[in-house]
Amino acid sequence: MRAMTVIPGKPDSAELTDLPDPQPADGELLVEPLYLGVCGTDREIVEGGHGEPPPGHERLVLGHELLGRVRDSGELVAGIVRRPDPVPCACCAQGEWDMCRNGQYTERGIKALDGYGAELVTLEADFAIPVPAELGTLGVLAEPASILAKAWEQIDRIGTRACSAHERALIIGAGPIGLLGALMGAQRDLEVHVLDRATEGAKLEAVQALGGRYHAGDVTELAEEIQPDVVVECTGVAELVAGAMQHTAPGAIVCLTGVAASRKLSVDVGALNNELVLENDVVFGSVNANRRHFEQAVKSLTDADQDWLRRLITRTVPLDRWPEALEKGDDDIKVVVEFTER
Ligand code: BGC
Repeated sequence: MRAMTVIPGKPDSAELTDLPDPQPADGELLVEPLYLGVCGTDREIVEGGHGEPPPGHERLVLGHELLGRVRDSGELVAGIVRRPDPVPCACCAQGEWDMCRNGQYTERGIKALDGYGAELVTLEADFAIPVPAELGTLGVLAEPASILAKAWEQIDRIGTRACSAHERALIIGAGPIGLLGALMGAQRDLEVHVLDRATEGAKLEAVQALGGRYHAGDVTELAEEIQPDVVVECTGVAELVAGAMQHTAPGAIVCLTGVAASRKLSVDVGALNNELVLENDVVFGSVNANRRHFEQAVKSLTDADQDWLRRLITRTVPLDRWPEALEKGDDDIKVVVEFTER
């Protein structure tokens, strides 16, 4: 079978490699991938900045956004990314591997475990998420949606500390993460604002079709004007992160989900401190997702307008040309690699 592989730490090592078919162990399913989404993490691994092969291997099979068909049952499934650490820490022991406390977790296609980017993969039944037939191939959005389901679950939990509910969300970045974050904000009946650089095209149209308000200006001016009480930052861009924290409504919750290259910025920490203290603001980071979040994600996607979800997948690349999926087109939202059924 053919697999999308890369040598972590070595730029330009991405290739389609022939590997022996995997043999499922007890409790594992044999899954034929249909679609596999790619994201910034995959790009970073291919560029040599991230990723770790399985012990004793040089190459890593890439891919963590799986929609596949279980060979025996024909059922559609998404695959959970992270596996609990072997110790396990208190969180991993309870199935909350997304909150792992010792960093020894592993991740399919990212950290020490082969991913789902191959014509045939094994998947532990406990880490397979059923995708309803009505959602179909849009189930490829389950993994990115799980990241936002977790982020929003945490926002909801933190939100219970105060007497009033949140009303206005600012989502920074209109990529797949930002747009799925906007969807979940709209599903919570919040007034949703989305900020991105693009001044026209698919991102703007997707926000408007959701009933949200799209903005392309300066983060500080926008936040001062709309006074968000929830901010979901999805870019990791230093200026936007700093802006997001500093101009919110009192009692705001700022959730950071993006990662970006290190960048020094001059910020008035005293003023930031005063804003956070005097307004009871919370800033927190959120990564990964556990089983519960995948289930929430599938529900949220199933409840969404399916035509709207279809807008998010802007490009499909066949497996034999998979590195093209990592090229960044101006109007790309989610790019997926397509596998032909065997
Ligand atoms: C994945 C997460 C993962 C994170 C860090 C993201 O792209 O969606 O599941 O935890 O990368 O490796």
